Amino acid sequence: MSDEWQRQIREFVNTIDKLKQHVNLTPGEEEVLRTTKTTWGTTPYFASLMDRYDPACPIRKQVIPSIQEQQNRYGMSDYLIWKENRDTEEKRPDSIARQYVDRVAFTVTQTCGIYCRHCFRKELVVDGDLQLNFDVDEGLAWIAAHPEVRDVLVTGGDPFLLSDEQLEYLIRKLRELPHIEMIRFGTRLPIVLPQRITPGLKKVLGAYHRVPIWVNTQCNHPGEITEITARAVFDLLSCGVNVGNQAVLLKGINDDVETFRALHQKLLSVRIKPYYVFYCEPAPGIDHFRTPVEKGAELIRDALRGHTTGLAQPMHVIATNIGKVPLMPDYYITGKDAQCYHLRNHKGEATSIPNMPESSGSV
Ligand SMILES: *Cc1c(COP(=O)(O)O)cnc(C)c1O
Ligand code: SF4
Repeated sequence: MSDEWQRQIREFVNTIDKLKQHVNLTPGEEEVLRTTKTTWGTTPYFASLMDRYDPACPIRKQVIPSIQEQQNRYGMSDYLIWKENRDTEEKRPDSIARQYVDRVAFTVTQTCGIYCRHCFRKELVVDGDLQLNFDVDEGLAWIAAHPEVRDVLVTGGDPFLLSDEQLEYLIRKLRELPHIEMIRFGTRLPIVLPQRITPGLKKVLGAYHRVPIWVNTQCNHPGEITEITARAVFDLLSCGVNVGNQAVLLKGINDDVETFRALHQKLLSVRIKPYYVFYCEPAPGIDHFRTPVEKGAELIRDALRGHTTGLAQPMHVIATNIGKVPLMPDYYITGKDAQCYHLRNHKGEATSIPNMPESSGSV
């Protein structure tokens, strides 16, 4: 049913009464919901995945604001201005964030299918402190004038909340530019509103074309994946769209070995390739979700590498103002000398391979 996604948006769960149809609120939760000035809410579908009785439910904690959001010890003020290099010499429309020469992030909307409590763009999307102007044509004109850009990452908000017609226009305009080699969408809808993957959207995204489309979604906990997710991802893949995941490492939600491994295995079981795990960024008011910097690499060491399918391995990165910085386990090389590299695996077993100098390949 193609209209189902629009019904989900019309019945968006963003009042206390609607939320109470899904969970028994604690007095603390209700108090915060009554007083918060931030945007919150999600679809009835995603709300139905919350545990009615458990305030510590990993899905519930991403949806319902916590009193801890009002504390901020480690978050940077004006985080997004810093992170997205908005305060620089280069003149760019508000919709274009740039950290690299050959690719840009193109923000086309400010609305989402869930207002994640841990969002690093919360100043823009959740708190509403930052006012920017996301004019699609202005962004397209800027991209057209920058032939060095070969990869456009369409983001938001959630770009899949645009209508089929708006998406068709955006994709057509980007594909008209000879320098564009690929289009990426960052969207949480395959997880929070899989009903959005309609026959109409498949028509817009599908069919063979010189310029491929990649979708990266955000799934942070195995409990977010259902039969409906599996079907939506299959539909995307079967019309030629590649699907990856960008998880956020969240304290108390997915930062233990068991959950972290189950998340990445379950993603593969519904054909989603784990791409990144992001360190929870130092945006204001999300200290309570943030782990120590070392945690991501430790989890890859203890939960994934060697412990499960190689395809289940994402790269752990810290997204910063100078780009993404990988932070992967660094214990594999235990030493080197003129003859050998000494290596270690996830079980602590040691081995060695010959150390070949750069010049010795030729005679
Ligand atoms: C994350 C990001 C990209 C894409 O980075 P990849 O490592 O290629 O996925 C591009 N531009 C900006 C501004 C980004 O934040
Ligand atoms: S869907 Fe993305 S942009 Fe929207 S609140 Fe969540 S993390 Fe932020």
